[in-house]
Amino acid sequence: VSILYYSAGDPEGRLLAKLRELLPAETILAWPERGDPAAITQAIVWLPPDDFFDGLDNLTHVLSIAAGVDNLLLHPGLSPSLPIVRLQDAGMGEKMAEYVLYGTLHAHRQMPDLLLAQRERRWAREVRTRSAAKFNVGILGAGAIGRVVAERLHANGYAVSCWSRSPKEVPGVTCYAGEAALNDFLNPLQVIVCMLPLTDATRGILNKRLFSALPVGAYVINPGRGAHLVENDLLDALDQGQLSGALLDVFATEPLPAEHAFWNHERIMITPHLAAPSPVRQSAEQIATSLRCIARNETPPGLVDRDQGY
Ligand code: NDP
Repeated sequence: VSILYYSAGDPEGRLLAKLRELLPAETILAWPERGDPAAITQAIVWLPPDDFFDGLDNLTHVLSIAAGVDNLLLHPGLSPSLPIVRLQDAGMGEKMAEYVLYGTLHAHRQMPDLLLAQRERRWAREVRTRSAAKFNVGILGAGAIGRVVAERLHANGYAVSCWSRSPKEVPGVTCYAGEAALNDFLNPLQVIVCMLPLTDATRGILNKRLFSALPVGAYVINPGRGAHLVENDLLDALDQGQLSGALLDVFATEPLPAEHAFWNHERIMITPHLAAPSPVRQSAEQIATSLRCIARNETPPGLVDRDQGY
């Protein structure tokens, strides 16, 4: 039997090499090499090509080299009943926490206004900053990564809250759960961070209605997925002053097209989907652990609920 590997994000084969080192007894083939497709029992993937799953009739699991599986669930060749295992944190939480902390500081210290003043050569001494303890940062999603982000912001003195589907407890963080609590969660926030998976229930959640539930001048950080954001609603809310700025890492179309309005918007900062790349060693270790669980007929950690879509 063998395992088939494909990653659109590992051009130098570093993750593949690490997996082979951790699993010396396994045959890990690098697509397009497939040997006998019927002998392939697991696949390890990030953005596999459309024909990747053709002829892989004996797969028991697909292991995602990412936390989000929205792309994989849309893959035209993926069997609807095949179990998917995803990465859980694997060091991404720490990276993401740095990214969100950066965006929070940018908003908290009023950098969108100060950068505009600088362009105008204006000495903007009137700009005021409230204390971190009174600066409310809310995280949509309190999962493997969202939780680490919340803890880091709290450790930096911010007033942090999070919102999830099921109730959570995170020390020092105010936790809200469910649709009915969404408005109460949103009302006090100076910064809203999207750390949700992309599912039918969360697509377009960063929209006009959500923005209008925030205080005037709130700031948006989206390292979730591009399709969480209704782009025109963001542009309208910025133009109307409802929002003061946005830090965006992910986009409906990636790479962001050259003619897109976001590139030159004076209140939008963009980064090219690099908030939290999967770290090689921790990802390989987690995938190896999952493969060992599967070999023992145990449920691997990070099994995706395909009905919920995450
Ligand atoms: P998890 O699945 O661990 O956590 C998801 C969280 O969202 C959970 O708290 C879950 O609630 C909550 N949630 C899901 N659906 C809803 C809903 N309908 N209403 C309210 N809450 C909901 O995901 P991760 O933390 O591992 O990752 C989150 C996302 O971050 C990924 O899916 C990916 O899109 C993005 N990401 C982006 C990266 C980047 O570099 N830009 C890197 C890594 C991830 P509950 O706990 O109750 O289930």
